[in-house]
Parts: sequence; structure tokens; C-alpha cells
Amino acid sequence: MAQNQRSVIADALLGWYDAHHRELPWRVPPHQIARAVQPDPYRIWLSEIMLQQTTVEAVKPYFAKFVAQWPDVTALAVAPEDDIMKAWAGLGYYSRARNLKKCADFIAADLGGIFPDTEEGLRTLPGVGPYTSAAIAAIAFNRPAAVVDGNVERVFSRLFTVTTPLPAAKKEIHRLVSDVLPHDRPGDFAQAVMDLGATLCSPRRPKCMLCPLKEMCLALKEGEPELYPIKAAKPEKPVRRGAAFVAVRHDGAILLRKRPGRGLLAGMSEPPNTDWTARQDGETSATAAPFEGDWQYASTIKHVFTHFELRLDVFRADCVDENMPQDWWWSLPETLLSEALPSVMKKAIEAAIPAATKRLLSPAKPN
Ligand code: SF4
Repeated sequence: MAQNQRSVIADALLGWYDAHHRELPWRVPPHQIARAVQPDPYRIWLSEIMLQQTTVEAVKPYFAKFVAQWPDVTALAVAPEDDIMKAWAGLGYYSRARNLKKCADFIAADLGGIFPDTEEGLRTLPGVGPYTSAAIAAIAFNRPAAVVDGNVERVFSRLFTVTTPLPAAKKEIHRLVSDVLPHDRPGDFAQAVMDLGATLCSPRRPKCMLCPLKEMCLALKEGEPELYPIKAAKPEKPVRRGAAFVAVRHDGAILLRKRPGRGLLAGMSEPPNTDWTARQDGETSATAAPFEGDWQYASTIKHVFTHFELRLDVFRADCVDENMPQDWWWSLPETLLSEALPSVMKKAIEAAIPAATKRLLSPAKPN
């Protein structure tokens, strides 16, 4: 790519970003990074881990809660893991929360509470992969790292009409981003491309007439930018089945237990449920309940995990609290929100309980 073309793209993007950047709680305004006023790497790291597989709007309240409760990495390192899991509950992909704790422990104990300031150094941290290390290096430390997430893949595959299907195109897109990124403002550049992808260059109906890159965009010239990025066909996810048993006490409390410390949703809370099996004849009826009761079928919920889709038959029974295993517990409606319940288990409980408790689990958003 010619030097001139590179700087025309970078200048157009940065000019647009200076005027139209999104205000985000973990972000410093444009130019601050280049002026050596560094953003807080703790906040950038925390936001980037939260934003993996999750939207900005979903992350905002969690980010506010975390920085209020644990304002720096040392505070997070001394926090009990159970408290972190509870604060994370609902954000999904819970291994991220466990890695968050491991990473905070490592930085506090082995690095004196200081984040590494290079992409290579950041890669050594637990839970920090190639994307996240590049993002923190660029945004927090203004290192010329190519930051490529889904938004960036979309913008660059359209800008240069990349015909290789994703994920095979990742290397090519990474090279294009490396070619274009300006070494004086790499942090702002990374955030500019992310913002463009999130606000104008959307998956469907991109707002090309408002785009600072419209004169250079090859996909727009072709006439159908939505054709990009080209994606390889995804294989269908296998289906697993199971049953969940929501036992409700006279005061509305719900019986919970803790999942094993390893494996999917490790250490999270749940109502008792069966194994999740790919077999169609697996035991998912009321006869699989952990104890006798007037189990009534409530409904079947679906939840999509990374590698499979779960269909969970939900049963409910009104119970008294006798002869329960010692490490199970009753959670009152007003304490349910603070339990470390993964989304799939919230869905299961919501399917079985009265509307009042439902509102406690999923409170209405303020206007
Ligand atoms: S012109 Fe349209 S397709 Fe091309 S980068 Fe801009 S918004 Fe995306």
C-alpha cells in the first residue's frame, strides 16, 4: 500500500474520531494519549475483558460497579473470588471473571501492581490473548499495535474488498491494519476504527454517506458493502438436553447449589439440574428430580453456548426445607440478584417463578 494512501485513510479516520468519538466510561478523549496523559491501564484492561463477546451497553453498568468496588488492580487482587463472580453474574463467559482474578493476583504479587506496557509483556498475563494485549498496548500505552476485533474486520474487509472468507482472512486484515495505523496516534486510531464499525459501518445498512472513508472504500464502489466481510459457513451447533428443578419455599426462597470448581460455569450457582446430554433419550423428566415433590413442568428454555445449544426442561415444586444436602441453600427473592447465577440459570428460574420474583432477577432499566 502506498504511503500516501495509508496516511489519507488514517487522517480521515482520526479527523472523524476527533469530532464524533463515543464517550465511554473507560476512555480518555482523543489526543490525550499522544499528549502523554496516559489512560489508566486497569480500566482499559477491565473494559476489554468485559467487552469480549458482550456489547458496550451491557458492559457499562458492570464496569461502573467493578471500579466503584475495586478501584485498582491491587483492590481486585485482595477481593474474594466469590465476590467477583457475584459481581460478574449475568455478563456470561465466566472463565473471563476467573481469569480477571488470576490476572489481578499475578500483577499485584509478581509485578508490584504495575501492568506491563508492551504487547509482548501484556501477552504473558492470564486471560490476555492477542487481541486484548494489542488493545491495551495501543489504548493505554499508545504502542503501535494492530487491534483487530469484529468491528475492525468489517471496516477493513469493506475498505479493501477482502475476498478471503473469515476466519482465514484474519492475517490479511491484521496486515492491512498494521500498514495503515499511524505511529503518532495508534491508540486513537484503534478506537476510531472500533467506533466507525460500531456506529456507521454496521453489519446491515452501513451509513456510507456519513463515512469519512467513503471516497476510498472499495466495497462502496462495488455497490454492495454488506457482502463483506465474507464468512465461511458455520457448522450447526449440536443440541444437548437436560432438566432443571426450581424448588420454591413458602417465603419465595429458591433452592440453590454451587457448580463444581472446574468445567463449564465452574463455581457458579444454580438450581439443581441433570447432566446435559446429547442423547435424545437422556433422563430429563420429573423423575430425574433430586428429591420427591409435586414437580410441575413450567417450560423449556434454550441457551446457546459457544460449542452447543442447551434445551433445558424446567420443573417447579413448592417445597419445605428438610433433608437437603448441607451445601445447598435457600436464596430469598431479594438476595437472588446478588447470587452468582449465570444467564442460563436465571432463565430457568424466571421460567418457573412468579412475576414479582422475576422482576427482582431482571429489574426494569431506569428511563
Ligand atoms: S463507506 Fe460504508 S462500507 Fe465503506 S467503510 Fe464506510 S461505512 Fe463501511
